[in-house]
Amino acid sequence: MPSLLAQPAPTDATLRSAKPTALSAVKGMNDLLPEDMAIWEHVEATAAYVFRQYGYRAIRTPIVEQTAVFVRAIGEVTDIVEKEMYTFTDALNGEQLTLRPENTAAVVRAAIEHNLLYEGPQRLWYFGPMFRHERPQKGRYRQFHQFGIEALGHGSPEVDAEQLLLVWRLWEALGIKPEQRPALEINSLGASAERAAHREALVAYFSAHASALDADSQRRLGTNPLRILDSKNPAMQPVIADAPQLPDFLGDESRRFEDQVLDILTQAGVPFRQNPRLVRGLDYYNLTVFEWVTDLLGAQGTVCGGGRYDGLIEMMGGKPAPACGFAIGAERLIGLLQACAPLKTGPLLDVYLMHWGEGSTAQAMVTAEALRSRGLAVQMHAGGGSVKSQIKKADASGAQVAVILGEDERAAGKATLKPLRGQADQRTVLPGDLAEAVLCLTR
Ligand code: ATP
Ligand code: MG
Repeated sequence: MPSLLAQPAPTDATLRSAKPTALSAVKGMNDLLPEDMAIWEHVEATAAYVFRQYGYRAIRTPIVEQTAVFVRAIGEVTDIVEKEMYTFTDALNGEQLTLRPENTAAVVRAAIEHNLLYEGPQRLWYFGPMFRHERPQKGRYRQFHQFGIEALGHGSPEVDAEQLLLVWRLWEALGIKPEQRPALEINSLGASAERAAHREALVAYFSAHASALDADSQRRLGTNPLRILDSKNPAMQPVIADAPQLPDFLGDESRRFEDQVLDILTQAGVPFRQNPRLVRGLDYYNLTVFEWVTDLLGAQGTVCGGGRYDGLIEMMGGKPAPACGFAIGAERLIGLLQACAPLKTGPLLDVYLMHWGEGSTAQAMVTAEALRSRGLAVQMHAGGGSVKSQIKKADASGAQVAVILGEDERAAGKATLKPLRGQADQRTVLPGDLAEAVLCLTR
């Protein structure tokens, strides 16, 4: 076998002639370019503001966790764990690791590890990338972003209701008109004994209709029949439609809990629809489950999903404590905002600073620093060039005003202020008056 070493080493000439091929991003993982970022920054800032309004504090966890964190929390027989996780063995120590497909499990892991609940219940929020090996399509990516909140140690129905009021307020804060807001669908999964009774009825029903089940569902019949209800296969929908429904199995306590949540929503004027078939794709839910769904995005219309998960903290090795939370898909939310109305953002730059002539650079930089100290956003012209080309660049920068430090200005100890938008006239000002004059024009 020819050895690699036996091949002639490439000469300088062959290296120079081989043009490197351009590389591309991983399929289903998107770059966010500067022109995309205005809306992302707007949504991130608005969400952070609204979360804070309800007393939620930010938390950040690593994007990689031990695989067991997700398997234990999400459940073996789920789409995520069965086929969507990016799992790998750490080549250095052999640990099984996974890129997080969602963040509830990791937040709960962190809360237990750092004893956060020792201080009392915690309202936490996060934002960041998640990873799932799905078939990329509009609204479904392999790296996507979620905003989420988790109320850990909170067991009362007003906390579920409050989270839904928060989402409704977020839609409002983002400027989505009431008729364009995602619709809230809500259900109750009850307590575990009620789910067990429902499960038995489901197994009996689906066993009697085994021939109508696809391969995935036949397998789930023996492992996790509730998941069959969550199937996306259109051929399965008729048999799912007639299956026993969870709400029929709820006892008094579960019903009372649900009624309290719905009553608050009604009194607060948040519209909702009860959907007895809503089960959600993860194992850890009980009682309240909900989704916010829009028809403005085509097939991937679920913008937000969540609910109560009273058993998860104990399952993850913590002291038993109730909890509830949700996650919002940021790409879908931004898609919805773009479908509703293009975002109007203010200009990013206040000043474009033009300068020329011997020794102008240092003086321009000192002037730019003085303006920035007054809170102004200043882009300094870099790289010389004619006055005409500097004016063109100032115009294209989007700045509100140009500050000009040409040879004449500097000889006179002044600066010229040239408004780039609106009607105001160009004028010269003394250096000490410059910041005030710019602020008058830009604020
Ligand atoms: P779906 O039914 O669309 O697969 P899911 O039940 O898997 O959603 P969750 O795990 O509940 O989704 O995640 C919460 C939200 O995160 C979803 O409602 C959606 O907005 C968003 N989301 C989930 N998976 C993706 C993805 N692959 N790409 C973009 N957004 C996603
Ligand atoms: Mg999914």
